[in-house]
Amino acid sequence: MTFSWTPHRFVGGALALDVANSVILRHEPEGRRDRFALPEQLAAFPEAASLLSGERDRFGVLRPVPPQNATLFLELREAIDAYFRNRVRGEASRQQLATLLEVSATALRASPGDDSLEAATAHSALGLICEPEPERMKICFNCGWLFIDRSKNRSRTWCDMAVCGNRVKASRHYHRNKKEISP
Ligand SMILES: [Zn+2]
Repeated sequence: MTFSWTPHRFVGGALALDVANSVILRHEPEGRRDRFALPEQLAAFPEAASLLSGERDRFGVLRPVPPQNATLFLELREAIDAYFRNRVRGEASRQQLATLLEVSATALRASPGDDSLEAATAHSALGLICEPEPERMKICFNCGWLFIDRSKNRSRTWCDMAVCGNRVKASRHYHRNKKEISP
């Protein structure tokens, strides 16, 4: 199947989280897939983010080129995921915050302009650190993606109801039916 950056891949609600979510099933060695592993997929990301990211109005149109230093950009991605994933769990350390700040600073210094993917991602991450309602950030119950729950009653459990919500429901239905027919 050909890969494309669909709206589902931008459900994080913030560019930094969409970048972190480019790794599917990050903590499952069997299912883990890095959508930035192929250079053409990384190259197509900024243009898709300009159209689909929840922060597209904040950053405007991003330079439609991959990061100048891909290794540094992936370091930024990992620092974003490590810090925020642990913060959601109430386990973020000062070291993880320090690493995120350091890598963000390095990415900002190395970035070719404010409209570059690396600069916009660093700005997004720095904004999230100071978010007034950090409890709105969650980890999808089904796929493990990070997302911001902007619902009124803060009741979102899934990154995307249409994808992960339905998968969980279908699996529950399957197991229920299986139980009914098994002795
Ligand atoms: Zn999900």
